[in-house]
Amino acid sequence: MSFNINDKGYYGDFGGAYIPEMLYPNVEELRQNYLKIMAEPSFKEEFDQLLKDYVGRPSPLYFAKRLSEKYNTKIYLKREDLNHTGAHKVNNTIGQILMAQRLGKTRIIAETGAGQHGVATATVCALMGMECIVYMGEIDIARQAPNVARMKMLGAEVRPALSGSRTLKDATNEAIRDWINNPVDTHYIIGSVVGPHPYPDMVARFQAVVSEEIKWQLKDKEGREKPDHVIACVGGGSNAAGAFYHYLDDTDVNLIAVEAAGKGIHSGESAATSVLGKEGIIHGSKTLLMQTHDGQITEPYSISAGLDYPGVGPMHAHLYKTGRAEFISITDDQAMTAGLELSQLEGIIPAIESSHAFAVFDHKKFNPDDVVVINLSGRGDKDLQNYIDYFKL
Ligand SMILES: *Cc1c(COP(=O)(O)O)cnc(C)c1O
Repeated sequence: MSFNINDKGYYGDFGGAYIPEMLYPNVEELRQNYLKIMAEPSFKEEFDQLLKDYVGRPSPLYFAKRLSEKYNTKIYLKREDLNHTGAHKVNNTIGQILMAQRLGKTRIIAETGAGQHGVATATVCALMGMECIVYMGEIDIARQAPNVARMKMLGAEVRPALSGSRTLKDATNEAIRDWINNPVDTHYIIGSVVGPHPYPDMVARFQAVVSEEIKWQLKDKEGREKPDHVIACVGGGSNAAGAFYHYLDDTDVNLIAVEAAGKGIHSGESAATSVLGKEGIIHGSKTLLMQTHDGQITEPYSISAGLDYPGVGPMHAHLYKTGRAEFISITDDQAMTAGLELSQLEGIIPAIESSHAFAVFDHKKFNPDDVVVINLSGRGDKDLQNYIDYFKL
């Protein structure tokens, strides 16, 4: 069995491109060209150079001594939090803006919920001097003022989505409408391993640099490329896809995906898609998503804005269904406690998304000589107010 994508754009039963006909030419242009462009030496060279000099890669693989002592196992942290802009998302936006340039595009659109992907997109547009329009729900604009300010400072235009619940899915609808109206000059940068084929595969390939580095870094430190476990939080699934990518077919490497259980899996306020989701179509791909029995998408909830998504990408739906990856759900409370613990044991304040991954140690026991790699997807600066309110600091 393969855990990678097939030539029709499916991971097992999941994936594909379920899109309105008007969008077909845009998506098809990308599908026909993305692998060819990514294979060009000049593309690789520019991508690698920017990841090195602009993003600051390779990100360190850090042996977390005190955390390891506490849980009696060998824990390494992949430090995506040290990237420029503070998370893994920039790996993807760098890749996609280079792709857009090769396709002759001059205008970039994106949608954003919490604003993190909007900031990562506005950043690379400034870097390349490209026009940038970020669609964002009116409610989210009010809730995420610092990220709105960042995008504006970087020269992006933030356009409010005024329809529906005025959150992420409405912003997505606006972005799709824009793309349909501007097929020739515009590229749509999607922020996770979601959307119609080829997006999930393209984004996974850009994020795959994470596990590519883990392999040689672990070889240096432990004398072997493969850890026993790789752990990552899952919203749409891009940081997990990057951390898992080069281990997908190494079934002796245990993959652990951590979802947000919010206030509890069955509380009605959760984002635990693997447990609660059913097959359906969201953002142009067939995957697992949280829905009512008549197929309406359920509003997700998590204390962490980045995990607050009603689906998972098709790769993760396949990893779940086949049992290749173990899925765990972590509540708000468990994640916040784990975030505080990492801060005080290692001097590293994680993004609340990443804190979910660290809560795995209270959930699951590892052997003393197991090598466990956790993808520390982002830093906690953006979440400070949340931590302050929660712990009454
Ligand atoms: C956006 C975000 C996530 C969730 O997105 P994925 O596509 O699942 O990786 C996780 N961690 C951080 C720090 C984020 O900013």
